[in-house]
Amino acid sequence: MNASGHHTAAGRFRRWARTMVAHRFGDAGARDRGGSAPEIYQSSTMGALLDGVYEGEVTIAELLTHGDFGLGTFNRLDGEMVVLDGTCYHLWSDGTAAVAAPTDRTPFAAVTRFRPGATIKITGPTGRDDVVALIDKAIPSENLVHAIRITGAFGSMRTRTVMKQSPPYPPLVKATEGQAETRFTDVAGTLAGFRSPDYEQGITVAGYHLHFLNAARDGGGHALDFRIDDGDIAISTASELHLSLPRSEEFLTADLRTSHLGDQIRQAEGG
Ligand code: ZN
Repeated sequence: MNASGHHTAAGRFRRWARTMVAHRFGDAGARDRGGSAPEIYQSSTMGALLDGVYEGEVTIAELLTHGDFGLGTFNRLDGEMVVLDGTCYHLWSDGTAAVAAPTDRTPFAAVTRFRPGATIKITGPTGRDDVVALIDKAIPSENLVHAIRITGAFGSMRTRTVMKQSPPYPPLVKATEGQAETRFTDVAGTLAGFRSPDYEQGITVAGYHLHFLNAARDGGGHALDFRIDDGDIAISTASELHLSLPRSEEFLTADLRTSHLGDQIRQAEGG
C-alpha cells in the first residue's frame, strides 16, 4: 500500500468505509460459522467451452455436493443448466425445463452455497442495464465473485438455449450461431448466476452471466435481456475459488490461448 493509503485523511476514510461495508454485508467473504468460506466450485473453463470441449466427467450428483446454486451446461452442449435451492434443472433448446438426472454430466458448471448478504428491492419496471447498475452499486468490490439471485415478476424475458452438438464439435461461436431464442412475457421466475471479475474472463464469463428458470420450473434459458417489474435481488459474495480442471484428451489438447477470447465470449454468450 502506498503512503496515501495509510496516513492521509482520505486513507483513513477509505479504511473506515471498508469496515462499514464489511459490517453491512455481514459475513460476505468472511469465514462462516462452519469454518469454511463460501466457495465457488467450477468445473472446467469458459475458454475450453469456446474451443469445443463439450464433454466432462463431473456428474450432476457430484456437482450438487459443491453447492446449491449456480449455472452451467450439459455434455454435448445439450441445453442450459440452472441450480436453484439444491436442485439442478435441465433447460432445453425449445425453452422447456425439467429436473436434471443425477447421472447427467457437465463440461462446464459453477456452483456455490448461496448465502444472501445484500438484498435490493425492485418495485417498478426495471430493464437489464438498470438492474446491473443497481447491483454494481451494491457490491462491496468488483474484484470478488458475486452470486446473483433475482426473483420476481418479469414483464419480459428473452433467453437462448444451446443445442445438442455432435462430434467433431464446432467451437462455441459456431454452435451458438443458429441458437434458439425464447421470449417469455409476464412470467414469474428466478434469474440465477454470477457477476465475475474482469480478470476471470476466459476462466468464466467476466461480468454478468445469468440463467432464467420460471416459477413453474418448466421453462427458461440463458438470459439475453429482460425487464423485471417487481422482485428481489439477493447477492452472495464469495472469495474462495475451486477450479476443477478436466484431464480428458480434449481438454489437454484444447487451444486455450487468450487472444480474442473476450470477443468470442461476447459473441457466444450475448448480453
Ligand atoms: Zn449461459
